[in-house]
Amino acid sequence: MQRFHRPIEASGDAQRDVARIVEDAQQLLAAAGVGRDRIGAIGVSAPGPVDVRNGEVVEPPNLPGWGRVPLAAWIEAGLGGPVALENDANAAALAEWRFGAGRGYRDIVYLTMSTGVGGGLILAGRLYRGHHGNAGELGHITLEAGGERCACGLRGCFEAYAGGAAWAKRLREVTPVGSTVAELAGGPGRVTPEHLVAAAHAGDAFALGEFARWRETVARGIATIAFAFAPERIVLGTIAVAAGEELCFAPLRARVRELIWPDIAAGLEIVPAALGDRLADLAGICAALETVAADRVG
Ligand SMILES: [Zn+2]
Repeated sequence: MQRFHRPIEASGDAQRDVARIVEDAQQLLAAAGVGRDRIGAIGVSAPGPVDVRNGEVVEPPNLPGWGRVPLAAWIEAGLGGPVALENDANAAALAEWRFGAGRGYRDIVYLTMSTGVGGGLILAGRLYRGHHGNAGELGHITLEAGGERCACGLRGCFEAYAGGAAWAKRLREVTPVGSTVAELAGGPGRVTPEHLVAAAHAGDAFALGEFARWRETVARGIATIAFAFAPERIVLGTIAVAAGEELCFAPLRARVRELIWPDIAAGLEIVPAALGDRLADLAGICAALETVAADRVG
């Protein structure tokens, strides 16, 4: 397998940004000696919201200026096809289910826990997309009526407390000057959740307190999710993986057990995502596999 990684510098001009992605893919194909006629399917994992039926990305908050973009059609024009477009959290859920922490299970919920809180639902052994393909936007369930403003425009969302970007914003306001966290970051104004997690691992009291606050929010979000779907596994990504068993998972499981009914808790495991930096590649591949499988069935 060949891979190529380039952080996107969104220009605000979707046509220009997609053209660069297509050029990267063309170079990969050329290097691998694969012609357009040999492409079985192209999987695209894109920031949501997406309209999977029309192959469109619909005004993604993390790609300002993109508007409503016919991403599948543009990529197909550049590379061939067919192109399968999937919301990135759904594609990641598919990847963890097929290749990672959800392998062998029928009912899993995947939460990204990175910049935002993305969610993907595998229910009864298949990806559950909902009406337009955006089911599982669990970062936007309301935890606090009238609470913190979320990037999505609503207030009090799970993501407004547990998302990395929202947490970084808070940390820059509350981190004491001269604290371990501030020193690790090079000043309170530069603190990220990574610095906080590193200081918590080192036993710093401020970092442990802030992490416990984050974990409590995550426990409350997970409790709602557990009642809604009663999954076998809830798989948590980035920040939770970095924090690990002692800091995150063991106390989180104990707290969630206090917040939900014993019957639901008894069937539930809360575990770290397993794919690490292979996730993005496998997410795209899984989006393509879904389409190939769907074409075969239908
Ligand atoms: Zn929101």
